[in-house]
Amino acid sequence: MTRKLNFYAGPSVLPLEVFEEIQKNMVEYGDSGLSLIETSHRSATYDEVHMGAISLIRELFAVPDNYKVLLLGGGATLQFGMIPMNFLPKDGHCDFVVSGSWSKKAYDDAKKIGSVNVLFDGKSEGYVSLPDAGDVKPSDGSSYVYITSNETIGGVQWKDWPDTGDVPLFCDMSSDIMSHPVPVEKFGLIYAGAQKNLGPAGVTIVIVRDDILERCADGLPAYLDYRTHANKDSLYNTPPVFPIWAMKLVLERMKRIGGIEAMAKHNRDKASLVYDVIDGSDGFYRCPVDERYRSEMNVVFRLPSEDLEKAFVAEATSKGMMGLKGHRSVGGCRASLYNSMTVEGAGELAEFMKGFMKEKR
Ligand SMILES: *Cc1c(COP(=O)(O)O)cnc(C)c1O
Repeated sequence: MTRKLNFYAGPSVLPLEVFEEIQKNMVEYGDSGLSLIETSHRSATYDEVHMGAISLIRELFAVPDNYKVLLLGGGATLQFGMIPMNFLPKDGHCDFVVSGSWSKKAYDDAKKIGSVNVLFDGKSEGYVSLPDAGDVKPSDGSSYVYITSNETIGGVQWKDWPDTGDVPLFCDMSSDIMSHPVPVEKFGLIYAGAQKNLGPAGVTIVIVRDDILERCADGLPAYLDYRTHANKDSLYNTPPVFPIWAMKLVLERMKRIGGIEAMAKHNRDKASLVYDVIDGSDGFYRCPVDERYRSEMNVVFRLPSEDLEKAFVAEATSKGMMGLKGHRSVGGCRASLYNSMTVEGAGELAEFMKGFMKEKR
């Protein structure tokens, strides 16, 4: 089999060595005589995987001791509702930065639970920019400030974090978690679906400060209350054992190749390869995003016409470069360059872009 180059936005590329490791251990996990995915989640065999994944997140992402790391089901999307159900009081309000499709979805869910104040809305410009971090100030009496570190569809990424003082900052990091170091202590809660940077779909990571957990609303169904999971090391019910195992393998590999600093450099290099072609193309390729906030994870770009965009995607696909079509809601093209995309892969895309331009302009 020749593996194609995977630029899909999610689920997305995973390292070949992780698949090989899974393949080797799928039928029998180690010498346990069983597959891990048919083994009790209360067994010592699974416990080592589960706690190992959590401790690798703590270590590699430098999570301070006063934070819990939870592994939940329901996708990042469940967090759109779970966060306001726990932390948005009926008589209070929260603050939102609406910077793209994902924060808009989270905002729409939060509004169903309580009152939401919008600090910034990028819709009128087409979600191509962000507010200055220094301008993001919580309103009086706010319960939390909500941001999205990387807008996967718009290709907009925060480079600096707001200082929200005593009001906790909550962040959806689904599409850039562990792609570069983050000062976790600046956040009250961080969450991310695993399927962009860390593993297959099915597990969501929630990193939450201990004092924030004390604010959870009472009376919620057990699964929807963060404390349920925090009190049981995310083993209250059957966890998504397969994605957690696969994520642990991805994290072990990350550690082997130099941890998050190495990841950050590798991601910067990949993004530069593609943005340099865009910037050097004399307008043939155009990135609509404010240069200050261009995403290193999702590079969005347009060509001179929709016909050329179609031809670009078709020719790339025929050459084994998959997933370059932009999200259906915005059109254009998008190259997702998550952790497991190689520098060589991004380089091949850059060369293809140059060749296509030469031929078509
Ligand atoms: C993919 C994505 C989501 C949705 O994740 P699901 O796991 O499919 O629910 C939410 N936020 C961001 C920023 C994403 O990229």
